[in-house]
Amino acid sequence: MPGTSDRERARDPAEGRRRRSAARRGAALPVVHFHRPTERPFTASQRESTTILIGGLSPRHDKLVEAAIQAMGCRCQALPNVTMESYTAGREFGNNGLCNPTYFTVGNLVKFLQDREAEGMSKEAIVDTYVFLTAGSCGTCRFGMYESQYRLALENAGFHGFRVVLFGTDDGIDQSSGEAAGLDLSLDFFLGLITAFDLADVLNQYTYRLRPYEVVPGSVDEVTSRVVAHLYELVRNRDRFELEDHWTRLAVGTRLEGAVRYIAKILHLTRSDQFTGAMREARDAYDQLEFDPFRVRPVVKVMGEFWAQTTEGPGNFHIHRFLEQEGAEVYVDRSLFTRLSYMLFMHREKTRDRRGLRQDEGRLAHYLRYYRKMGLLGLADRLLHRENRRLIEALGGTLHEMLDQSELELLARPYWNWRTTSGEGHLEIAENIYYHTHHLCHMVLSLKPFTCMPSTQSDGVQVRVVEDHPGMIFLPIETSGDGEVIAHSRVQMALGSARAKARKEMDDIVAASPWTLDEIKEWADDHPHVKRPSYRVPHAPGVVGRAANLALHISGLMGARTPARPVTREAHRV
Ligand code: SF4
Repeated sequence: MPGTSDRERARDPAEGRRRRSAARRGAALPVVHFHRPTERPFTASQRESTTILIGGLSPRHDKLVEAAIQAMGCRCQALPNVTMESYTAGREFGNNGLCNPTYFTVGNLVKFLQDREAEGMSKEAIVDTYVFLTAGSCGTCRFGMYESQYRLALENAGFHGFRVVLFGTDDGIDQSSGEAAGLDLSLDFFLGLITAFDLADVLNQYTYRLRPYEVVPGSVDEVTSRVVAHLYELVRNRDRFELEDHWTRLAVGTRLEGAVRYIAKILHLTRSDQFTGAMREARDAYDQLEFDPFRVRPVVKVMGEFWAQTTEGPGNFHIHRFLEQEGAEVYVDRSLFTRLSYMLFMHREKTRDRRGLRQDEGRLAHYLRYYRKMGLLGLADRLLHRENRRLIEALGGTLHEMLDQSELELLARPYWNWRTTSGEGHLEIAENIYYHTHHLCHMVLSLKPFTCMPSTQSDGVQVRVVEDHPGMIFLPIETSGDGEVIAHSRVQMALGSARAKARKEMDDIVAASPWTLDEIKEWADDHPHVKRPSYRVPHAPGVVGRAANLALHISGLMGARTPARPVTREAHRV
C-alpha cells in the first residue's frame, strides 16, 4: 500500500488478513513498527488564536506559571482546581488501574473542555483553539504514561486531535511543519518559569505557617491573594535582559554571542530586585495583621508523592485545611524547588557513575566534558538555593533554608539506594529523618496516592526508619477519590499524640522559666514586634513548636526574676 504509514497498514483489516494467511503458510512477516501518532503542530502563527492550558500544581503555582507563559507572548489559562467531578471524568475516560493523580489531572482537563462545549463551543473549535502543556518524562513510574493517558482520555471523550504539548522532552515542540514553535522554549521561558515556582513555593510555605495563628479568620488568605495578584503582574511584565540594549551588544555577531547572552540573562535575574522588593512589601502587609503566636499547635510536616502533597482539594482529602481545623500547623517544603534540586542531584550522581566510561572519545576530551557537566549542574543547584534564599530573606528570613540534597541522600543511605528512582525516590525517607532529627515537626504525614508503586516501596522502608528513631510519629495516608472520612479519622488519632507532644514541650518550658505564661504574654503585648510574623525567633535545640520557642525566647529576654524588686512591665518596655 504505497503512501500509507506502518500504523495505518497495521490497522487495515485486509492487511490483517494477509498477515494471518502469511503466518499460516509460515512465510516471513514484514515488520510493522509502532510510531507515536503525529500531532498537528502548535505554531507561532497560531499564538494569537490559541490558548495554552496548564494545571496540576497548587493554585498559587498555577496562577504564577500562567503569568510566566503569558510573558512569552502566548495566551495561557490555568485550569480550575481539581474537583470530584474531575476524578469521575478521569475514571470514565481514562484507562483502568491508574494512580490517583492521573485520574484527577486527566479528568480535570476533560471536564474543562466539556464545560466549554456545554457553553456552546463546538468540539472542532475547542480542538483548534486550545492546547494543553504538561511536563513529560520517560518514567519509571506512571508519570511516564501521563501524556498518553491525556491523549487517550481526550480521544475517548470525543476531542479527536486535541494537542498535548510536552516540555521536558522535545516531543510535541519540534515542529514538523518547519514553522517556529508556538511556545518558544527559550532561556527566558525557563527563567520565567523558575521565578514563578520560586515565588509560589515561598508564598505557599509562609501562608501555611501563618494561618494557624491569625486572629481574624481569613486575613492571611486575603493578604496572600493580594500578593499573588501583584506578583502575577510582575511576572507577566518581568524585566528581561536583552544583549542588544547594553554594552554587551559588542558580543553580537561574535562566536561568544550565545554564551554571553545566557550568562548575562542569568546574572540579570540573580541581581534583580524586582521580586525581592515585592516580597518585602508582602512581609510588611503580613506584619500588619494580628496574630496570637502563643497558640500551642502541633507542627505537621506534609510530604509524600509530589502531586498529592502539592494539590489543595479532594485530590488529598483537603488535608491542609483539615489539619488546620484540627488545630495543627502545616509545614510544607518548597515543593517545586526541592524537586528541581533533587533532579539536579540525581543528574549529577548519574554522571558521576558514568565517569571513566568513554564512548568514542579521548581520555582528555572525556574528562573535560565530565568536569564541565558536573560544574554546570553544581552551579545550577547553587543558583536555585541562592534565589530561594533571597526571597526568604526579603520575606523576613523566618523560613527554613532549602535542604541540601547531598545531606538528604546521606540520611537515606542506610535504608535506600538513591539509584532506586521513580516517584520521590529516597526523598521521603530522608525528609522524614531530617525533620524529626532537626526537631522541625512533631509529626510527619505522608500522602500516598492509591496504587502508587514508589510510595508503596517507600512505606515499607519507613517501618524500619520509625523503629530506628524512637519518638518519631509517622503516618502514611493513602489518597484516592473516596475514603475521606476514614483518612481524616486516622489523622485525628495520630494528631492526638502530636498534640500531647506539643503541649508537654510548652509546659516544660513554662515550668523551667522564672515567669508565668501570663507574664510572658503580657511582656509580648507590651513589645508587639515579637508577635509579628517576620520577627526571628531562635529555634532552640530540641524545641519544635512556635509557641514554645517564642515563650523560651521571651523568657530569656525578660531575664531572671529578682524577688526584692519585681520587674515591672514598664522596665522591659523597648
Ligand atoms: S509517583 Fe506514584 S502517584 Fe505519582 S505518577 Fe508515579 S505512580 Fe503515579
